[in-house]
Amino acid sequence: MKRSILITKALIVAVICSFSMNLAAQEKYPEPEPMRPGMSEFWTPRPKVVTPGTATNNAVITPPSDAIVLFDGKDLSAWKSNNKEGGEAKWIVKDGILIATQTGSIETKQHFEDYQLHIEWRISETVTGDGQGRGNSGVFMQGKYEVQVLESYQGKTYANGQAGSIYKQSPPLVNAMRKPGEWNVYDIIYSAPIFRKDGTYRVPPRITVIHNGVVVQNNTTIIGTTEYIGFPRVVEHGAGPILLQDHGDAVSFRNIWIREL
Ligand code: MG
Repeated sequence: MKRSILITKALIVAVICSFSMNLAAQEKYPEPEPMRPGMSEFWTPRPKVVTPGTATNNAVITPPSDAIVLFDGKDLSAWKSNNKEGGEAKWIVKDGILIATQTGSIETKQHFEDYQLHIEWRISETVTGDGQGRGNSGVFMQGKYEVQVLESYQGKTYANGQAGSIYKQSPPLVNAMRKPGEWNVYDIIYSAPIFRKDGTYRVPPRITVIHNGVVVQNNTTIIGTTEYIGFPRVVEHGAGPILLQDHGDAVSFRNIWIREL
């Protein structure tokens, strides 16, 4: 009996102590700082530079027979605007090339789950700007997860924000960029996430990215949305579009096709 009274007393003292310590902590420590963009960037280690093989005579490999062609150089009929108002995609199609304009991002009308995606992109030879303002666009898986498009041959930025990165998550394994004015190729193999009933990932999304024939993401786990400010978030979703980002720079695209897996 005596022992149980002692234990009860000790518990009461512990609760009072912890309550007053919490009060003291609240008085002592300031509110946590709000997230700034720099808090989710890391600059080292820098991915090693690898010179990719050469596309002889600027060769274009045509889509395989079972591919869904998303852009064949003629029109944007497979795409729509990502603006709130929706409507037609307003990027420029000229000489068989799609050029990003400052009219908002565009996305495919069709939605996808697991796939193999081929897309070619080019930064202008006369590119200006630096860091994230140098030939910035992006290819988003299911409208949520960005594989960065950026002039990263000469341009310097944080490692988890350069071309081939899963933006602000995974830097590319190496830097396989071609010079401004030359075409880059992404071949992407993507597996969509599976969600639990509570909206968390049961199986997170996974991605392999081959940049100019060089693996830069090797079955990488995507841990959430690719946010500019803050950390990745898990947001439940179903099948989604391929989205191309308007970041204000006139990045060119061609030969875009997808094979559902
Ligand atoms: Mg981008």
